[in-house]
Amino acid sequence: MRLTELVVKLSVDTIAEAPKELTIAEEIGELNLLYDQGQVKEFRFPPVLEVSLIYYRSGRELFFHGRLEGLIEGRCGRCLKSYSFPLKKDFDFVLTPEPISARKGELSRDEMGLSFYAAEEINVSPFIREQVLLALPTRPLCAEGCRGLCTGCGVNLNEESCLCQTSEDDPRMAFFRTLKLDQ
Ligand SMILES: [Zn+2]
Ligand SMILES: [Zn+2]
Repeated sequence: MRLTELVVKLSVDTIAEAPKELTIAEEIGELNLLYDQGQVKEFRFPPVLEVSLIYYRSGRELFFHGRLEGLIEGRCGRCLKSYSFPLKKDFDFVLTPEPISARKGELSRDEMGLSFYAAEEINVSPFIREQVLLALPTRPLCAEGCRGLCTGCGVNLNEESCLCQTSEDDPRMAFFRTLKLDQ
C-alpha cells in the first residue's frame, strides 16, 4: 500500500507485523523558525521534504525505516555565500510503549535513550524532523575547496584575488608582523 499524506498520525492498532509503506510530504518549514530564533543561521529549509517510510510492529515495539530527500539551502561557513545542497538520509527508529516509571517522571526519555509512545496515535513528524537535523552537515561548505574570505581585506577569494593574500596565508609571516608591532 502506498499513500501520500500531509499530516501523518498512525493509529497504533493499524500497525501490523507485515510492513506498510508510506510516502509523506513532510512539512519542515517550521524548522526555519527554530534556526531564526537561534544564533546559528546556517540553513534554510524548503516548505516540504519527501519522506518514504516503512513501518511494522514486532510485539509492542514499532519499527520505522525511512528515507528523506530534499534540497536545503546552506550558508557556507568559509565564504558566507548561500548555496543549495541535496540532503539524503536513511534512518531507523524504534518506538516502545512508555513504561509506567517514565510516565511518573522517574526516568526521563533522554536518560533511557529510548523513544516511547504513550498515545493510541503516533505523530511521526517530530521523529522525522529530528532526523533532518541529524542529517545536516556540522559545518556547511559551498565546496570542499572553498577558499573563503581574505582575513586581511575581506574579498571572496573564490571570485577574486587580492594583494594581502600571500602574506596572510603564510602563518610565519603573520608571526613576524606581530613581532614587529610589539616592538
Ligand atoms: Zn564557500
Ligand atoms: Zn585581501
